[in-house]
Amino acid sequence: MSQYWSPFVHTLTPYVPGEQPKLPNLVKLNTNENPYPPSPRVIAAIQEELGNDGAALRLYPDPNADRLKQAIADHFAEFGISRTQVFVGNGSDEVLAHAFLGLLKHDAPVLMPDITYSFYPVYCELYGIKRCAIPLGANFEISVADYARENGGIIIANPNAPTGLALASTDIERLVAAHRDSVVVIDEAYVDFGGETAISLVNRYPNLLIIRTLSKSHALAGLRIGYAVGDAALIEALERVKNSFNSYPLDRVAIAGASAAMQDGGYLETTRRAVMKSRERLVSDLATLGFDVLPSAANFIFARHPRHDGGELAAELRRRSIIVRHFKQPRIDQFLRITVGTDTQCGVLVDALRSIVG
Ligand SMILES: *Cc1c(COP(=O)(O)O)cnc(C)c1O
Repeated sequence: MSQYWSPFVHTLTPYVPGEQPKLPNLVKLNTNENPYPPSPRVIAAIQEELGNDGAALRLYPDPNADRLKQAIADHFAEFGISRTQVFVGNGSDEVLAHAFLGLLKHDAPVLMPDITYSFYPVYCELYGIKRCAIPLGANFEISVADYARENGGIIIANPNAPTGLALASTDIERLVAAHRDSVVVIDEAYVDFGGETAISLVNRYPNLLIIRTLSKSHALAGLRIGYAVGDAALIEALERVKNSFNSYPLDRVAIAGASAAMQDGGYLETTRRAVMKSRERLVSDLATLGFDVLPSAANFIFARHPRHDGGELAAELRRRSIIVRHFKQPRIDQFLRITVGTDTQCGVLVDALRSIVG
């Protein structure tokens, strides 16, 4: 605490990201990173951008990152997405922040599930946005009917985090159709691992904004790229906020690497299939050990053991150099959120859990 702070800073409770310990031989299954490296084309594009002497870095990057926006539009060509319907930012966390300020700050509260990505309430607090948490159902499911109330916008992660449960795009369509006077933001951070994208609805619903990241399915958490797809008028709001905050959120290396990643659809397909296959194996191994595992459409699973406390399990795993995520939050404090690693990493985890619960 300091007398020098702007007064409202005293009221902030910042988001706490999963830890990034610098220990050797750690089995790191706590922040949903991809266990595989990014596409080799990403590395080649970054090397090309840098050249022999890195002279390109003297110059500012393209403030609009048009090359990347075009690569994203091309990636979604089947849905008729154009470059003016794409916004890019420094990680989807930044895109989300701009969406909260530019599209979700109204007199009525923004609606969100009570259990969801814990950054959403943090943005509400930062920007002074009213919010209303809608409880998940008995099986942690989202029911779109529960959102039938006055609101200044709706945000849902699909698949949801940390549960991993997905809504069908028909449910998303019911939601956007029922709330044509509000913006509905769908955070599709994990959709490539088995969810159903709502990007196909963008050209029919001018109130729908989809937010995505290259951190998970494209294995580029370290490069920091996120994007939004929606009606050009929604994108214009995000551009206004962005250009009132930071004109150059994506550097030259990120623009080059991310553009190459979006162009390598084959690599995305191979790696996401590998992750989903490992997930099915992990789910069945944990079920054999007596865990209840929620049906996951993400690159993580959410599981609890009926006879072992979630916090204690996480601590036991840590003693064995395996880290997973545990949330000390009502209703989910018995669960572990476990990132799907390689089969080798999953095997180490399952062996450790067998020795703990067995
Ligand atoms: C990981 C994650 C993000 C943030 O991703 P970045 O692009 O790395 O900032 C956003 N939403 C959800 C639900 C996530 O899990």
